[in-house]
Amino acid sequence: MTQGNGTEIRIGVYICHCGVNIAGTIDVKAVAEAAGKLPNVAIARTYKYMCSDPGQELIISDIAEHQLNRIVVAACSPNLHEATFRGAMERAGINPYYFQMVNIREHGSWVHTDPVAATEKAKDQVRAAVARVVHHKPLERKRLAVNQSVLVVGGGIAGITAALDLAKSGKRVYLVEREPSIGGHMAKYDKTFPTLDCAACILTPKMSEVREHPNITLWTYSEVTEVAGHIGKFKVKVRRKPRYIDEELCVGCMDCVSACVFKEPKFEDEFNEGLGKRKPIYMPFPQAVPPVVTIDPETCLKFRTGKCKAPCETVCDRKAVDFNQTERIEEIEVGAVIIATGFKTFDATRLPLYGYGIYPNVYTSLEVERLVNSSGPTGGEIVCRDGRKPKSIGIIHCVGSRDKKTNRWCSRVCCMYSLKLAHLLREHTGADVYQFYIDMRCPGKGYDEFYEKLLDEGIQMIRGRAAEVTDWTMTPEEEGKLVIRVEDTLSAYVRRIPVDMVVLSVGLEPAEGADEIRRMFNISCSKEGFFLEKHPKLAPVETATAGVFIAGCCQGPKDIPDTVAQAGAAAAQAMALLDKGYVEMEPNTAYINADHCSGCKSCIPLCPYHAISFNEATGKAEINEALCSGCGTCVASCPSGSITQNLFEDAQIFSEIDEVLSYV
Ligand code: SF4
Ligand code: SF4
Repeated sequence: MTQGNGTEIRIGVYICHCGVNIAGTIDVKAVAEAAGKLPNVAIARTYKYMCSDPGQELIISDIAEHQLNRIVVAACSPNLHEATFRGAMERAGINPYYFQMVNIREHGSWVHTDPVAATEKAKDQVRAAVARVVHHKPLERKRLAVNQSVLVVGGGIAGITAALDLAKSGKRVYLVEREPSIGGHMAKYDKTFPTLDCAACILTPKMSEVREHPNITLWTYSEVTEVAGHIGKFKVKVRRKPRYIDEELCVGCMDCVSACVFKEPKFEDEFNEGLGKRKPIYMPFPQAVPPVVTIDPETCLKFRTGKCKAPCETVCDRKAVDFNQTERIEEIEVGAVIIATGFKTFDATRLPLYGYGIYPNVYTSLEVERLVNSSGPTGGEIVCRDGRKPKSIGIIHCVGSRDKKTNRWCSRVCCMYSLKLAHLLREHTGADVYQFYIDMRCPGKGYDEFYEKLLDEGIQMIRGRAAEVTDWTMTPEEEGKLVIRVEDTLSAYVRRIPVDMVVLSVGLEPAEGADEIRRMFNISCSKEGFFLEKHPKLAPVETATAGVFIAGCCQGPKDIPDTVAQAGAAAAQAMALLDKGYVEMEPNTAYINADHCSGCKSCIPLCPYHAISFNEATGKAEINEALCSGCGTCVASCPSGSITQNLFEDAQIFSEIDEVLSYV
């Protein structure tokens, strides 16, 4: 048989032993002998390890010596070595898509115990591949230029780290954060475990660095609203919500806050978890970045009634207050995206048995982070909502974690932050502190040592999931206290521990709006709602969408060191992509034969990668090759058969099927 240019088709077939992985079950020599008798096969060989350098050299020298123009390799999974053999063909000077790989290991020797039947199956697979490769066509990988900017979504410690790493390497970064300041959850913490460093002391210099870095454009109080394009060239729209303050003019002097008609703070302070109050014009916390104020239209009298004289506006010498400010949409183009949208904590009211929202002295762990913080609502003094200083405190682990009724997953950080809070609460109050735990999970560097240290400090550990928190008392010593009922699984007793204050160690959940982000960037999530990495071990920061990376708790619960490490890895991946300057697209994409396309549009909504659009001028559908992932959905759906997919053309597939089904 000849190919288009009239030259004879000459196929080389190579059967790999894979040590004994394949040859231990399949008679590889018999498979090669059978292949050697097939039409168009010029040579068929076996080799111990085809993927090794000598194995590849064998193919290269045979191509020259036997004028081969098609190659079939029967070995392991194409996922592992298709690129290896295509590379060898390129080095030998022939088009790498004149190649077909057959998996006789995972589909043969590893799943069959009968050597005879496994050998016959391998012969069938090779025969089908030989028939298929005859119809292969030369294809070219396309190169797309990569825009040299990166978008980082989320300004917590993950986003900050990724943005700084990229900016320091000379890349242009857009950092988008929906809150008025960057800093995320870490900005609310007092100390970090296990070293007990002051969280603000290690975080705020990085926040300031972000603000001052010339390569970083920081947009806080902003959200991504629309994403189009593909790896190397994403077009993104960012909504910048009005904060009614000109960020360029405001210097954060707070004169306006002092001048506000509300002489005392009156409204729930989100940064302090509702434990403090703020005015309608406020800065979330003193080290906020950018250090500018924000006006909340929900609580500002000027917006609510129109009757306020707005002394904030008059007092500002810099004329930074702007009640007419409106929403702005910024449009940017970036080559890569890093998503670092973080987490939210479990809503403790979902477990009324622990009394959150019912008994005032039941707190969440995040509230206690603010209570122990010297810049928190009480200046670091631990005072319960009823005004008492606690003499006994119970910390209940796994609230909204490892629980079939709420969230099944372990939130990974709660054991350690509970130990840290126990240490801080005891240090601040001298109270008796009890921890109620299922089992202690302290697997990080220095974590177990921290746990041992806490035991020496006299923290009392009670192993057992707390059953309930109640104010129903049974003895005089329980009077006026909250009672934690628990089955102590070490002593095998049901115990009642009366305490003044209860802390619920709430678990971590996907952040608010994670689903929207996931849809916009076309990435998948686990059933829990955390973003899914491309491969849990080998590609932990990549996603199924090329050019979109993930970092931090949006991928799953993790502590600060792991978050920072992952953010660095995501930044490095984005840098590698930008530094290369281009991306090569595999050519197994679909294309539309415009002469046959009826313009019915049925393929457009079916494409999971949004690669198909409709050209109103021509009345035909069009496929954007850069977005097409070669899934084949449109090919199967087109009623007029107008769509073809490279490497999966009818002649290629049908000849393969014919040979598999043929009786030899
Ligand atoms: S708006 Fe004006 S008065 Fe208010 S903090 Fe900014 S600069 Fe100061
Ligand atoms: S980390 Fe500890 S407290 Fe948190 S869910 Fe896991 S076991 Fe429970």
